[in-house]
Amino acid sequence: MSFTTELKALLSNRYSENTDVRNQHGAGFSYHACMPPDAVVYPQSVEEVSEILRICSRYRVPVIPFGAGTSIEGHIVATRGGISVDLGKMNRIPEINTADMYVTVQAGVTRNQLDEALKGTGFFFPIGPGVNATIGGMAATRASGTNAVRYGTMKDNVLSLTVVLPDGSVVKTGSKARKSSAGYDLTRLFIGSEGTLGIITDLTLKLSGYPESVYAAVTSFPTVEAAVNTAIRTIQQGVPVARVELLDATMMRVINRYSGLTYREEPTLFLEFHGSSGEVERQADRTRSIAFGFGAEGFVGEEEESARERLWKARTDAALAVQTLVPGCRLFSTDVCVPISRLAVCITETQRDIAESGLLAPILGHVGDGNFHLSIPVHPDDPDALAKARAVNERLVRRALEMEGTCTGEHGIGIGKLAYMESEHGPALAVMRSIKAGLDPLQIMNPGKLLPPSPF
Ligand SMILES: Cc1cc2nc3c(=O)[nH]c(=O)nc-3n(C[C@H](O)[C@H](O)[C@H](O)COP(=O)(O)OP(=O)(O)OC[C@H]3O[C@@H](n4cnc5c(N)ncnc54)[C@H](O)[C@@H]3O)c2cc1C
Repeated sequence: MSFTTELKALLSNRYSENTDVRNQHGAGFSYHACMPPDAVVYPQSVEEVSEILRICSRYRVPVIPFGAGTSIEGHIVATRGGISVDLGKMNRIPEINTADMYVTVQAGVTRNQLDEALKGTGFFFPIGPGVNATIGGMAATRASGTNAVRYGTMKDNVLSLTVVLPDGSVVKTGSKARKSSAGYDLTRLFIGSEGTLGIITDLTLKLSGYPESVYAAVTSFPTVEAAVNTAIRTIQQGVPVARVELLDATMMRVINRYSGLTYREEPTLFLEFHGSSGEVERQADRTRSIAFGFGAEGFVGEEEESARERLWKARTDAALAVQTLVPGCRLFSTDVCVPISRLAVCITETQRDIAESGLLAPILGHVGDGNFHLSIPVHPDDPDALAKARAVNERLVRRALEMEGTCTGEHGIGIGKLAYMESEHGPALAVMRSIKAGLDPLQIMNPGKLLPPSPF
């Protein structure tokens, strides 16, 4: 018997060696080159995931968990071949519990599917990347998105997990209680582990009550610095803003063109406030006066749901819009996050680097969290542009680390950020390696990701 014979016997037509399928599972949404796995499997139950891992452990075959493949840093490329475990068929939502404000989902449930299922319940799940990722993949990358400034990231919104460990054993972490002091927080260990410690099969997520009133606003500024300072001051003054997104003038031009809009093509904040109707007005008023204090040129409210949807759709589509600028390009997306008081300096210094490089690199950011991205379209046949993008990113990451920030606020490490783990974590990296060695002694789980090779 070989591992392929055993996997085929277990899964029959849910085992594939088809080249297109393998390529689709070996690329992700990034500039990193495709490295296809040897085969792709589609389990339908936790028992099947467990059996797959037992077989792969026995034969020491690499295993790469796969959600929707939207990760950005080469998380799912099969650097050492092996089996891609696609969780897409595990997409049931067994329980929506509004009394206790949680929902249980299988790992392959997508963001849009969950939104749809929660419609009409009065609750929503606030975390959402700008793309239809799976909930399992979002937990595995510790994802966030535009709402994180008010509702937190995946680490704040998952109550418990079911995880299959590399040897095939199944553990449950956490509980349905909103808080717990019972021992090590294993839920948060697996959140952000990028498939290197086990496969998440089920999740219990916190639900948030849908706000009575929602008010969005768009305000533009003469400089990026003024826009960022408005965001910083709004947060520092304790306005519980639900979303505060920066788009620089280039990004505004790009989204206007892509989405057929007519916003001012200047540095802009997209804002949203949640609460009772009196509360959102007060939040908006305070933010408006801060914005005018920094020279804002208008503060346009969007109360109608359709107008708000148009605004946030334009923001969500920003990455796709940038991709249309260079036909056939892939996106090189940076992702630093810094303490909020350092954000304006970090962005203005980065703007200088962009200008010197000659790159097209629109900026957008979840600035309420101190997190921003450059979206750089890079054609695969343009090594010069790729080298420049790498150089700008390198300087940006070093700058963020000097400011006691992080190389990645939400995208994760994959293979793209391995080089910065030592500088960011120092001796704590050895602790991470011990955890990996303890849980995955055969090193089969998503090898080559998250932890750089040990020098010893
Ligand atoms: C246009 C665009 C916009 C984006 N915007 C944002 C954003 O605003 N915020 C943000 O945080 N991210 C964003 N992302 C990045 C991406 O969507 C997230 O990283 C997302 O969480 C990945 O989910 P996925 O289901 O696609 O996972 P995949 O890409 O399939 O996998 C990602 C990683 O998780 C592991 N994994 C997947 N499923 C499991 C599982 N069940 N158990 C264990 N490990 C697993 C994989 O092995 C891999 O290491 C964006 C991406 C794109 C393309």
